[in-house]
Amino acid sequence: MSSRERLYLFDTTLRDGAQTNGVDFTLADKLAIAKMLAELGIDYVEGGYPGANPIDTELFSKPRGLRTTFTAFGMTRRPGRSTSNDPGLAALLDAHADAICFVAKSWDYHVRVALETTEEENLASIRDSVAAAKAAGREVLLDCEHFFDGYKANPRYALACAKAAYEAGARWVVLCDTNGGTLPHEVETIVGEVVQAIPGDHVGIHAHNDTEQAVANSLAAVRAGARQIQGTLNGLGERCGNANLVSLIPTLKLKPDFSRRFDIGVDDARLKQLAQVSHKLDEMLNRAPNRHAPYVGDSAFATKAGIHASAILKEPATYEHVPPDLVGNRRKVLVSDQAGRANLLAELERIGLTVNKDDPRLARLLDAVKEREAQGYAYEAADASFDLLARRVLGTVPDYFAVEKFDVNVEQRINARGERVTVSMAVVKVKVGDETLISAAEGIGPVNALDLALRKDLGKYQKHIEGLNLTDYRVRILNAGTEAVTRVLIESEDENGEHWSTVGVSPNIIDASFQALMDSIVYKLVKSGAPA
Ligand SMILES: [Zn+2]
Repeated sequence: MSSRERLYLFDTTLRDGAQTNGVDFTLADKLAIAKMLAELGIDYVEGGYPGANPIDTELFSKPRGLRTTFTAFGMTRRPGRSTSNDPGLAALLDAHADAICFVAKSWDYHVRVALETTEEENLASIRDSVAAAKAAGREVLLDCEHFFDGYKANPRYALACAKAAYEAGARWVVLCDTNGGTLPHEVETIVGEVVQAIPGDHVGIHAHNDTEQAVANSLAAVRAGARQIQGTLNGLGERCGNANLVSLIPTLKLKPDFSRRFDIGVDDARLKQLAQVSHKLDEMLNRAPNRHAPYVGDSAFATKAGIHASAILKEPATYEHVPPDLVGNRRKVLVSDQAGRANLLAELERIGLTVNKDDPRLARLLDAVKEREAQGYAYEAADASFDLLARRVLGTVPDYFAVEKFDVNVEQRINARGERVTVSMAVVKVKVGDETLISAAEGIGPVNALDLALRKDLGKYQKHIEGLNLTDYRVRILNAGTEAVTRVLIESEDENGEHWSTVGVSPNIIDASFQALMDSIVYKLVKSGAPA
């Protein structure tokens, strides 16, 4: 038996996270994310608001068989109605959910002004709704909206709302920092007072990130006695987002102040998949992962300076707050114009190239990196281009294919419907062995057309690049010497969820893009072990 206390995690990516600007989950997305969260070991997954929109209604229209407490969200009964005469509440009780999370006002000002009802009627609505859901066999949670602001304005009433839910049988009373303005010390004090009235193992925290304290506020609430944390994957959520579970989970698992006192549903094996889960969500949202995300970002364990690099090789723990592999990330020693031999050797070792430290090719590689970085290449942001440069200097990249020529044109014209349209088309002539292949493609822009044409037919190599996708394309104009040059960074992924970045530099944007595209394709061929 563990002597540690159980701490519960509640994910609201699919409900609160769905409020994020530009995020629109389909039913299939919601089911895939819910499954991923359940597999990660999240105790509660809030799926949405049945009755509020067709996708959420459908999501809860039948049992989904998820290994988590699948939760439906909705309002308490409307003031002045009975629970049996409230269509919103009825939809919630009909939903195929293991738990129901109600939201109710707990700030007296909002009760009067927004709800236009009396304090007593609001309390009755909380009691009745919780009791009705409990009678329907559901586990019940109550989100106390604006709890912290409400508590500061009128602690007696905010607490009365929370107590009404608890006394009516709610498993959890969740204290929400709805506008995200509360600071950690305030959360710790207020939660500490709440748990005098309601046992902490029935109290949850729901923090928003408007002062970038959502994670800190969640931890402060736990320190004060709360035992459920609500948050989202990658901190998704409206405005500045919700508490980021991807940062909270490793903190709870790896920082002794928490790991010694608490158990969570995420075990060590699943913790190692955290980086992958985080990236997977970004992929579904079609956005590039945040390189600087704590624990899981590409740069989270990256070091630049030469003196640090040699120390890291000797004793990683001196420069890392936790071992990166525990969260599914990896150590990265950046190659840059500050790079010394130690950086270079470390990076070569990581990508699986063994080079003796006295090998003369090492000096040639170092010179090549410095020279190219002076021209504008950025290898620390383009791991795959660095990998290829190193392999080329070491003489291990086969000549898979050669692009003999390409032609890209951009045409603006009036189409048959009288609209002005811009069309891009690319033609690429490639030599693969003795075969000459010519491919053409239209694209939404010249680089897109070139990419499509280049990847349309690579003969015998085609099967190796079928799963290749571009996920991000970034352009920067640099001043190298007197000339302005363009740097293009491309991020790619493959069917196995692997990510890599490549770089191209030229005064011409198409040229720079072409280099980065070529590196991405060749890198994929090297990784796939394609025969020369
Ligand atoms: Zn919220």
